[in-house]
Amino acid sequence: MNVYLDYSATTPTDPEVLAAMTPYFTEVFGNPSSVYSLAAKSRAAIDKAREQVAAAFGAHPEEIFFTGSGTEADNWALKGAVDKAREAGKHGACHVITSAIEHHAILHTADYLEKHEGVKVTYLPVDSEGRVSIDDLRSAATDETVIVSIMFANNEIGTIEPIKAIGEFCRERGILFHTDAVQAAAQIPIDVQELKIDMMSMSAHKMYGPKGTGAFYLRRGVKVENFVHGGGQEKGRRASTENIAGIVGMGFAAERMKQRLPTEKPRLTALRDRLIDGILKSIPHAKLNGARGEERLPNNVNFSFIGVEGETLLLDLDANGISASTGSACTSGSLDPSHVLMAIGLSHELAHGSLRMTLGRGTTDEHIGHVLSVLPGIVARRRSMSPVWEQYVKEHGGS
Ligand code: PLP
Repeated sequence: MNVYLDYSATTPTDPEVLAAMTPYFTEVFGNPSSVYSLAAKSRAAIDKAREQVAAAFGAHPEEIFFTGSGTEADNWALKGAVDKAREAGKHGACHVITSAIEHHAILHTADYLEKHEGVKVTYLPVDSEGRVSIDDLRSAATDETVIVSIMFANNEIGTIEPIKAIGEFCRERGILFHTDAVQAAAQIPIDVQELKIDMMSMSAHKMYGPKGTGAFYLRRGVKVENFVHGGGQEKGRRASTENIAGIVGMGFAAERMKQRLPTEKPRLTALRDRLIDGILKSIPHAKLNGARGEERLPNNVNFSFIGVEGETLLLDLDANGISASTGSACTSGSLDPSHVLMAIGLSHELAHGSLRMTLGRGTTDEHIGHVLSVLPGIVARRRSMSPVWEQYVKEHGGS
């Protein structure tokens, strides 16, 4: 049996999405900036996709800008806000607030701004389930704070952040609020107006659309610098000939995702909880990472097993037809423990023994049953060879 449980790394392109995209490679290939009618068809397709993405998140179409990825949208938010503040005369004093558990698309951009533009960055800590605190945000904010960027939901442990409270605080204080919703946008309903979000990053390949297309929501009237300089595409804010097929795919995927949410969210939540409860019952000393219930993404399961290396677990699972990950797809291959697991207070040993399983449209009850039938044996076998486990049992008892 093949069980794909890495939907947060990427999703397969929905065949319907692919079918909607295909004509834009071969038949309707005109450059949207040209004047003839073939080009007008390309323009119309982009307009429609912009409406579809906007409608999925409660935005106006003119507030959606297509990008090459979620990473690019994250870069745009931080760099664009800082550049605009500098233009408005805030020299040397720009302050950015983010969290310790952001995706590297945010963390490395913040790092760049610190190193190259002299920006001061505050990384808010999180509690043991990965939540930032509004009190910490309130204490960190200063008159020099240009932007707060807190992810909607964490890609490794699935914890959903208090976005409404953060949005309200930022709006009151006149500070820009950006959220990286690359994971959340595909899993839970989001209304940018209700949540007082100024900027939001999204990615098509996490919602059964194509890789290499993202979107940036920029609320009307919010001033950030343009990102890619060149031609007049995307109102001159993100130059480069549009990836029409990718954009069409993203629009279609966002529309389908919104239609499916009312049934898919409870379905995945039930499967997620069956997997979580099954692991807690069958594997001693299994540690669930992240929040529970409504504060966790419906598709995310993340555990640490003391005495087991995450990487070996992945190989054993793969031998049983199961594709999973140890954390973020972007950091796999790295020997450093996950910054997210360290931030929620895990020891190095536990952080190295983590397993992320992310569910999606293809996940069935049978798949969860298969994981529950093989995982306890795999963990027990690995632990029986582990000096870390031997020591742990000596200290804590149990088996
Ligand atoms: N932000 C988060 C939270 C993610 O999980 C990812 C991808 O895993 C990204 C950003 C990057 O998105 P993209 O692959 O579209 O660049």
